[in-house]
Amino acid sequence: MTTETIAAIASGLTHAGIGIIRISGPDALQVGDRVVTLKTGKAIAAVPTHTVHYGLAHEGEEVLDEILAVVMRAPHSFTGEDVVELQCHGGPLIMRRLLDAVLHQGARLAEPGEFTRRAFLNGRMDLSQAEAVMDLIHSQNEFARKASIEQLQGQVSEKVKKLREKILYQLAFIEAALDDPEHISTEGYQEKLNGLLDPLIRELDVLLKDAGSSRILADGVRTVILGRPNAGKSSLLNLLVGEERAIVTDIAGTTRDTLEENIPLGGISLRLVDTAGIRETEDQIEQMGVERAKAQAEKADLLIHMVDASRPLAQEEDEIFRILQGKRAVILMNKSDLTAAVDAETVREKAPGVPVLTFSAREGIGKDALEKTILDMFDAGEIGKRSSVTITNLRHKDALEHARDSLCMVKQSIADGMPEDFYSIDLMEAYRQLGLIIGESVEDDLVNEIFAKFCMGK
Ligand code: GDP
Ligand code: ZN
Repeated sequence: MTTETIAAIASGLTHAGIGIIRISGPDALQVGDRVVTLKTGKAIAAVPTHTVHYGLAHEGEEVLDEILAVVMRAPHSFTGEDVVELQCHGGPLIMRRLLDAVLHQGARLAEPGEFTRRAFLNGRMDLSQAEAVMDLIHSQNEFARKASIEQLQGQVSEKVKKLREKILYQLAFIEAALDDPEHISTEGYQEKLNGLLDPLIRELDVLLKDAGSSRILADGVRTVILGRPNAGKSSLLNLLVGEERAIVTDIAGTTRDTLEENIPLGGISLRLVDTAGIRETEDQIEQMGVERAKAQAEKADLLIHMVDASRPLAQEEDEIFRILQGKRAVILMNKSDLTAAVDAETVREKAPGVPVLTFSAREGIGKDALEKTILDMFDAGEIGKRSSVTITNLRHKDALEHARDSLCMVKQSIADGMPEDFYSIDLMEAYRQLGLIIGESVEDDLVNEIFAKFCMGK
């Protein structure tokens, strides 16, 4: 198998102090030498690994930029291959010209995620760590960043490997016992295995339980604002988005639909859904229709119901109170700066169990209480502090669920008095499912699919 040398712009394509072109593969050093002349006159292929060199990058006779060449030889690089990173001035045009020069001199343009894919294939990291690279880059809040860096540092992998080891030991024992029944007795083994399975299943349960709330914390709390026309929904949106606007704009290249707005909130973030609807119409609940509001609410993690407390409750408001039932929701008694026409007690009776807060979107009254209520609801502090491994990746969660199901099947087989070879089928399946998380026993097409989700240059 011949490995091609690949290259891409590894930094953002915006105006910045520094831009980075990354070259990786067997010819990386030679390609570097064809594009760069070092000030010292030495060849990049001749300098020691992990050193930095000043030089000029050129395309033919033309000088493109002054650069720093960072040289990292295999296997001690991100990809495990020879790598040259050219640090140039960070203008889009400079980076494009420099990349072109590199591509003309024998490298091919890297596919999205190809550097990380090579890191995985060369054993520099396992699959869950490779996925963490992408998650880390795209983290939208502190919680997501922490979970990703932990995953990158191997905490998920370690946990999974330990679970697999325990299962493998049992598989090996059953195998051996079946092979050599004279010397290895399975007397009493069923009870022993049964006892071993319980803590394993419990561990998976804990991981899975956290995974649900972790997803919410990493991706943001899907939030829908409901309320009658003129209740103050747009005003609330503006208040929440406020000065944070610059930070909340979505990272280019992600496929979030543009109707969403991300608002950082005490280490987590709110993902406000269908904000365009709120902005463009003064009549949201009627405009989107009760059915659509219900559908939206169904998919939401959190509902915020704006009540205009300066006006008496109207009939239509009951529709909204009904939507709130059984959901995580907050009711805001908005316009508290005006004379009240409805009191909190009346509203509480209409929506039992839902917190009701005094609010004024205009004056900013109740904003802190709203944030605290939401954070309490999602237990963010508690989950953030938890020392155990955090699963945020849906693919991992799926594999954990399958592994858990398989272990439960083993217990079932034991209860049904099935013979040992029945257990090993399900134990094997649990072992395989856990392996999917770290990329062992992973089919090639799954690997390709995962790395295709990466951005250019990573
Ligand atoms: P929406 O139709 O639910 O989006 O409501 P808007 O946010 O567009 O607000 C409707 C009207 O109520 C606007 O004139 C706002 O300025 C006003 N408004 C919103 N919140 C408050 C508030 O807390 N106090 C007062 N006095 N007026 C408010
Ligand atoms: Zn509005």
